[in-house]
Amino acid sequence: MEDKTLFEKIVDREIPAEIIYEDDLCLAFNDIAPQSPTHILIVPKKVIPRLAEANEDDKAVLGHLLFKAREIAENKGLSEEGKGFRVVINNGEHGGETVPHLHVHLLAGRPLLWPPG
Ligand code: 5GP
Repeated sequence: MEDKTLFEKIVDREIPAEIIYEDDLCLAFNDIAPQSPTHILIVPKKVIPRLAEANEDDKAVLGHLLFKAREIAENKGLSEEGKGFRVVINNGEHGGETVPHLHVHLLAGRPLLWPPG
């Protein structure tokens, strides 16, 4: 059996994390090195290494991750007028990916620059 990814270990409670939300398909928890006042990672329980390796069967889980980002943002008041949030998926070396287990970043709490650099 292949080694577990870092995020699988968090899903399996082998590594602690500040968990925000969990259901059958995903886990959401605070990023350990937040880049903004709110920085949450939403991770599928199924290991998909990166978006580029998602397949037809993963469409539902991909939609689920995005919809949960939207719900978590609303629950935290980030959808209110005058606020806002950013959803990011880093893919591969040029994309800035460091953990090979697909995850959605939910960033908020300060004005975010564009382009991101
Ligand atoms: P990536 O660079 O792959 O898009 O994002 C990986 C993210 O995982 C980074 O923002 C990094 O701070 C976060 N991270 C890395 N190790 C841990 C950890 O052990 N716990 C938590 N909560 N986040 C982590």
